[in-house]
Amino acid sequence: MEEILKVEHLHKSFENLTVLEDVSLTVNKGEVVVIVGPSGCGKSTFLRCINGLEDIQDGRVILDGQTINPPLQKGDNYRQRIGMVFQSYELFPHKTILGNIMLAPIKVQKRDKNEVRAEAEQLLEKVGLSSKKDNYPRQLSGGQKQRVAIVRALIMHPEILLFDEVTAALDPEMVREVLDVILELAKQQRTMLIVTHEMAFARAIADRIVFMDGGSIIEVSEPERFFTEPRTERAKRFLKTFEY
Ligand code: ADP
Ligand code: MG
Repeated sequence: MEEILKVEHLHKSFENLTVLEDVSLTVNKGEVVVIVGPSGCGKSTFLRCINGLEDIQDGRVILDGQTINPPLQKGDNYRQRIGMVFQSYELFPHKTILGNIMLAPIKVQKRDKNEVRAEAEQLLEKVGLSSKKDNYPRQLSGGQKQRVAIVRALIMHPEILLFDEVTAALDPEMVREVLDVILELAKQQRTMLIVTHEMAFARAIADRIVFMDGGSIIEVSEPERFFTEPRTERAKRFLKTFEY
């Protein structure tokens, strides 16, 4: 197995609040790692550190041999190598769907406009949104906007995709359509690090489950193991909150 991402002894604090404490994790190429844990335990901060959006106090983040030294400088290509999708879609309201998707590959990666357009149309078709390409974000549902946000990440050809609770803001009937797109990406052997509260989805898609609590990784398990016989009391307590 080939390692693609390696986080070593990461420490992150905001002033005197320690948010991540000695977090280490290795992700292999083609692997789907799902991070679960209570609200406020540091999941988003962890993804933001991996994406170079935060300065860190100690430790290292290494992507395919390249160590990142945050805060990243202008012109640093590191973030192009990582695709991140957030809970809020962050599409530009005054650009069409196609315009939103084509912006970064043309401006940042300096790719050919026709080539980028062809790929954008192909990706939109794969997520069932061909008919929306000339619409504006406000004309789309939340689930549709989130699928556009995923396409916008994919068109950069990232080596790893980070998803931070991408269905948390969606109405229940739209959650499925977004999760299905992510399941399809897993079938294509994409490397993904996913934060979610959708436990059935986590169980179905994960190669490994990472359980975080209080700024640390408490448990790393195969999904079946984690959901049927978690090793720690904290994980048991956490999973109980999803039973009803
Ligand atoms: P999660 O995603 O697991 O809910 P977060 O990573 O968002 O957790 O937050 C972890 C902790 O860090 C929380 O206590 C949160 O209040 C704190 N935190 C997050 N971002 C900031 C920030 N920019 N400044 C200060 N504290 C922050
Ligand atoms: Mg979060």
